[in-house]
Amino acid sequence: MRYGMAIDTKKCVGCSDCVVACQTENDVPLGYCRDWVTETVAGTYPNVELELRTERCNHCDNPPCVRCCPTGASHVIQGGIVLVTHNECIGCGACIQSCPYDARFSHPNGYVDKCTFCAHLVEKGGQPACVAVCPTKCMFFGDLDDPDSDVSAALKNRRYKALAPEAGTKPQIYYLL
Ligand code: SF4
Ligand code: SF4
Ligand code: SF4
Repeated sequence: MRYGMAIDTKKCVGCSDCVVACQTENDVPLGYCRDWVTETVAGTYPNVELELRTERCNHCDNPPCVRCCPTGASHVIQGGIVLVTHNECIGCGACIQSCPYDARFSHPNGYVDKCTFCAHLVEKGGQPACVAVCPTKCMFFGDLDDPDSDVSAALKNRRYKALAPEAGTKPQIYYLL
């Protein structure tokens, strides 16, 4: 099993409902976020294209944040989800420095935090909060190894990209183009 996400950049309207849902579901303190929305403009006038997309930890298959963690607090669980065990984290910040996606932050309680793919919901058969709340249904989550999963179906007949593939981290979030 290999959990991943596909996010349709043609359907995201940049409403940030995913950010609010994540903050509520995961008690993310005010002023911090586990997911965020970016806007990029490509091309030159008059052929300009705006891309809105929601970003978070890519749950990389080759995660430098796990390799560099001196205590083992950063680790990978079944399905490839990358987590931080809060009471084993000494807050050294090595993982924050190693992440090419700026996906981690120092929690005011002294540990490092980031997206968990809502593992607490997924392990009960649910969907991540951000995916469930999206009003345009632009996010698809599931097992990339299962051809019938929502995420595999979303990737089937579309072009897609991952972010910063050159970093070699093998991100598991794909953006439909
Ligand atoms: Fe680690 Fe960053 Fe990859 Fe998440 S996106 S697994 S924090 S390297
Ligand atoms: Fe590991 Fe915590 Fe240091 Fe990150 S801040 S590398 S999770 S001990
Ligand atoms: Fe937040 Fe869960 Fe979505 Fe990750 S999967 S961004 S923790 S709501």
